[in-house]
Amino acid sequence: MRAIVLHKPQDLHVEEREVALPGPGQVLVRIERGGICGSDLHYFRHGGFGAVRMKEPMILGHEIAGRVEQLGRGVEGPAVGTPVAVNPSSPCGICSFCRTGQPIHCSDMRFLGSAMRTPHVQGGFSEHLVCRAENAVPLVSGSDSAAGAFAEPLAVTLHAVGQAPVYGGRVLIMGAGPIGALLVLAARYAGAREIVVTDIQEGPLAYARKVGADRTVNVADHPSAMAVYATNKGHFDIIFEAAGQGETVSNALPLVKPRGAVILVGQGATAEIPISTIVTKEIKLSGSFRFDREFALAVDLIGSGRIDVSPLLSDTLPLVEARQAFLLAGDKSKSMKVQIAFS
Ligand SMILES: [Zn+2]
Ligand SMILES: [Zn+2]
Repeated sequence: MRAIVLHKPQDLHVEEREVALPGPGQVLVRIERGGICGSDLHYFRHGGFGAVRMKEPMILGHEIAGRVEQLGRGVEGPAVGTPVAVNPSSPCGICSFCRTGQPIHCSDMRFLGSAMRTPHVQGGFSEHLVCRAENAVPLVSGSDSAAGAFAEPLAVTLHAVGQAPVYGGRVLIMGAGPIGALLVLAARYAGAREIVVTDIQEGPLAYARKVGADRTVNVADHPSAMAVYATNKGHFDIIFEAAGQGETVSNALPLVKPRGAVILVGQGATAEIPISTIVTKEIKLSGSFRFDREFALAVDLIGSGRIDVSPLLSDTLPLVEARQAFLLAGDKSKSMKVQIAFS
């Protein structure tokens, strides 16, 4: 089979790899679509993010969907041929965090295409992938693998909107990349009263409007346009930071109401934050990382049509053009979500 392997920053190749056989409790999935994520781009550009660094070649990718091709011993399903989204998250199930209902914080987490542990967990950008049977989540009839490959990033945003009560609230989303745009859909589903989205480029904001943002603001072109939201101690009940910029975090503080929440979803930045604003306005500042049971919810919402992710798929490139796909995904003026077609 062919796989997309990153050796070091910018050094990305489509290479031949052995197809593994599914062991007990596992299935073999033939991958059809893979979405390029911000974290894949971090590896591609810099070899990692934050403290995470690649130390060996790694197959990238964790937003994947395909079809079950073979069952391991003792596995009853999903049946061969079933279209599935692959949940890339495999917590150990036995550590202290797993046993206390916090598998996201598993101390022995295996997450596809992640260099957080060594040897790295190889990713899902390959024509075949062996995974635990329970990680192959059947797509609801009607959804295809292109939509199925959105289950992972949508799950990230469903987890984020679960961090604070969005229902009836005024929501600001800072950063209109794929996660910011999916946050529009997730916040609307969760009952937001008003959704405003900011970015520094026009292209992503057009996508945010397409999926239902009430207002978008290009803060590069109109740096003072947000000042109206800072009057009378702030306007928003909840602000999601999805730009991964330290500056955005401090820009959020004047805009959130007293006792409002600022949820950080973007990663990798460091920030200088005016702590006194957080203290005096009693702002709740918290992070949101990956997802857990929201993966199955994302598959269900996509499949039932209650959340339509299709406007966010901007480009689909064949496997042989993997490098071009990564370059395109990194150019937010030209793309939103870029997927690779494996078959
Ligand atoms: Zn992702
Ligand atoms: Zn664990």
